[in-house]
Amino acid sequence: MLRPIDPTHPDPALLREAADHLRRGELVAFPTETVYGLGAHALDAAAVRRIFAAKGRPAFNPLIVHVPDVATARTLVTTWPGVAEQLATHWWPGPLTLVLPKRALVPDEVTAGRETVAIRIPAHPVARALLAAVGLPIAAPSANRFTALSPVTGAQVARSLGDRVALILDGGRTPVGIESTVVDCTTTPPTLLRPGTITRAELEAVVGPLQDPVPVTEAEAPRAAPGMIARHYAPRATVRLLDADAMAQAVTTGRRRGLDASAAGTRATTPGSAMENTLAAITWSEAGRAAASELHIHLHLEASPLAYAAELYAALHAVDDACGTTVLVEQVPSDPAWDGIRDRLARAAHV
Ligand code: AMP
Ligand code: MG
Repeated sequence: MLRPIDPTHPDPALLREAADHLRRGELVAFPTETVYGLGAHALDAAAVRRIFAAKGRPAFNPLIVHVPDVATARTLVTTWPGVAEQLATHWWPGPLTLVLPKRALVPDEVTAGRETVAIRIPAHPVARALLAAVGLPIAAPSANRFTALSPVTGAQVARSLGDRVALILDGGRTPVGIESTVVDCTTTPPTLLRPGTITRAELEAVVGPLQDPVPVTEAEAPRAAPGMIARHYAPRATVRLLDADAMAQAVTTGRRRGLDASAAGTRATTPGSAMENTLAAITWSEAGRAAASELHIHLHLEASPLAYAAELYAALHAVDDACGTTVLVEQVPSDPAWDGIRDRLARAAHV
């Protein structure tokens, strides 16, 4: 059930209701600052299995455990190394996940059988208030069916998971917009497992050089480096990544073939109304904007990585809602500040 909740001053009665569901082993979807999470009592193996069932997520993909404070984080791990302390001090609460050696009380279901557990303190007031109300760690992956686009609004959660969850707390759009940065603190030096909006340079300024995950074949990838599945974070529309020049060509060719929603006389804003092949575009540069300006479904995002991340999934969801079947996405700059976004776009575009 979808229930609105004030994102800055969440209603205590509604939070108590959500906490009761979690204590009973039921699922509650809630906003975090990154994307919506699908939460369950993290120390209850049966509750955690419900997350996998609701998402259709393979059992080899571990979950992130959300905690209210560092003291709770430390109850879940066997060691709390200096790098974890430094990273937590700088970024918690916030969009940073730390991987650490787990204690026995963390069910194998949470970690997909691994000896390590991923933990973070979220910054969103609703997530923090829910953690305080329930007084338990909450395991929560993104609140969508497996490999699909992460939800950034309550309505998107409802569309993806519907009645597979007891309660959806709808606190509006999530501000960060892409998933957390993940750092494995069990290696020396630590490993940057998944880029996000916190950049490598920012992390390295605090803990020194980070290493990259050991390259693995695509077949091994899901187990060796969870979250690194090639096709992931994908909308229904086919994503084509291209630079502004190639986009200009693709738009011209597409319009000549009658693939533009407006050219075909369809109303792109009405779901279900578009024709079978409808082109859409997402751009960020002035050249990209000019290349795509003729298209009926064209979303132009801001040319800064944080602002772009905040809009990206909303834009991809909007393309799906408008029944765009192919979305031309302008490739983003190669500057490391865009690493998290480039990573998500590459996975969304992978066929
Ligand atoms: P999400 O994919 O956003 O639902 O969050 C789960 C992600 O956290 C996984 O896909 C991994 O990237 C990461 N993760 C969780 N647990 C671990 C772990 N034990 N070791 C490495 N990465 C993990
Ligand atoms: Mg996910």
